[in-house]
Amino acid sequence: MSFQNVVGGEPLDAVEGEAREVINPATGAVIATVPEGTQADVERAVAAAASAGVAWSNSTPAERAGVLLALADLLDEHSEELAQLESANVGKPITLAREENPISADNLRFFAAAARNLEGRAAGEYVSGYTSMVRREPIGVVGQIAPWNYPLQMAVWKLGPALAAGSTVVLKPSEMTPLSLLRFVQLATERELLPPGVLNVITGDGQHVGAGIVAHPEVRMVSITGDVGTGKAVARAAAGNLKKVHLELGGKAPMVIFDDAEIEAVVAAIRLGGYLNSGQDCTASSRVLASSRVYDALLEQLVPAVESLAVGDPAVGESIEMGPVISARQRERVVGFVERAVAAGASVLTNVAPPAGGGSFVAPMLLADVSQDAEIVQREVFGPVVTVQRFEDDGEAIAWANGVDYGLAASVWTRDVGRALEAARRLQFGTVWVNDHLPFMSEMPHGGRKQSGYGKDMSVYAVQEYTELKHVMISLS
Ligand code: NAD
Repeated sequence: MSFQNVVGGEPLDAVEGEAREVINPATGAVIATVPEGTQADVERAVAAAASAGVAWSNSTPAERAGVLLALADLLDEHSEELAQLESANVGKPITLAREENPISADNLRFFAAAARNLEGRAAGEYVSGYTSMVRREPIGVVGQIAPWNYPLQMAVWKLGPALAAGSTVVLKPSEMTPLSLLRFVQLATERELLPPGVLNVITGDGQHVGAGIVAHPEVRMVSITGDVGTGKAVARAAAGNLKKVHLELGGKAPMVIFDDAEIEAVVAAIRLGGYLNSGQDCTASSRVLASSRVYDALLEQLVPAVESLAVGDPAVGESIEMGPVISARQRERVVGFVERAVAAGASVLTNVAPPAGGGSFVAPMLLADVSQDAEIVQREVFGPVVTVQRFEDDGEAIAWANGVDYGLAASVWTRDVGRALEAARRLQFGTVWVNDHLPFMSEMPHGGRKQSGYGKDMSVYAVQEYTELKHVMISLS
């Protein structure tokens, strides 16, 4: 299969004609080629977005909502095809890929509604003799850079609010997982669902195409989901021309298990939340903090639960619960974290052999005997590795939960509503779940604190990110 970019409403190869091979991480086989962009592709896409922005920023909210609703219908219509592509390209179980697309379609429908429902201060006479009003205006050309773990969904979280706000977009998917987004935008282009140039998708690596988007003077805002180091590089580069930056970065989510938690529900949540998408999830429950009063009982159930995960090539079918990690390089990175943790005294409690063959598989692992300051506790692994720590009191649990550089998501498990609310208040994370871990929805904001970044995805707050406020003050005399 050979895919093309979409720029100015046209399917196009890279300006310089280069292509990149895309790999299925479950087999190591090449499954497609995509354009390998350069600065010339950035220039062409930004010019298309800038030109389209004149009409798009003057469109009515109803017109923009209509486009987003049509994209949602298209996603529903091609959901199975896109799920198959995503499963093969990311190595994720087909069941997970199938679950994501209806959620992404719902996201688009939510943004369609939000486009028509933006709010600001009431117009009024705040100084006698003058009427003041606030205009919420589109920010202009927006550069958006997506990660490899949920390629289509992360792209939707970005393009949805930007288009709703009346901005135009140059979007770069991850060079490792561009297929589902390219196919989706190709379909939208064939159906002429979008005015040409409103949404441009260009492929290429971060150092050239990503950095080129960030540095471009006509790009007024950059939104990136990725690693903390990448986010910092983008923020530094964006400082060069003071463009707005929206950063959705890594996480190291704690699950705080108090002594009155329902252990069976906790076990099910860790089995899902720690290993979903092979642990390559920014909100993955990678740190379990359990009260010493339930620690042993928890491990008794948790170890066999993790060992029971069905790991293999997603092409086998719906029985596969966990696939490979994204690349051989990522596998080496994950294994390196575990080896260093074991050398520092950690114990691997689970005993699973990863499937043999050419795929980049890592066995799901549960690690105990880790200290709060250990690398494996402090750094995002982005693989199927969960640590378990034993705490003595609520204060220690909250201090450990907060005691990392990240601040994306956390969960707390207790039947005591006062204890839950107090923990939710004290946890320094953008999302705190009580007695669950992972669920999210279109209406509520998702975003981090501390080194997990700043800015919100989803919800009306995401649409606001892509607008600028203008005060208009009218003398009445
Ligand atoms: P990554 O940082 O390697 O790459 C992300 C994107 O940035 C890619 O498209 C890449 O090409 C581009 N890029 C790399 N260097 C760049 C540069 N200098 N300038 C511009 N663009 C550049 O991240 P990844 O490995 O693809 O994704 C995994 C990371 O994403 C994890 O840290 C994960 O936690 C994070 N993530 C966060 C969220 C969230 O909502 N906070 C969601 C999903 C993933």
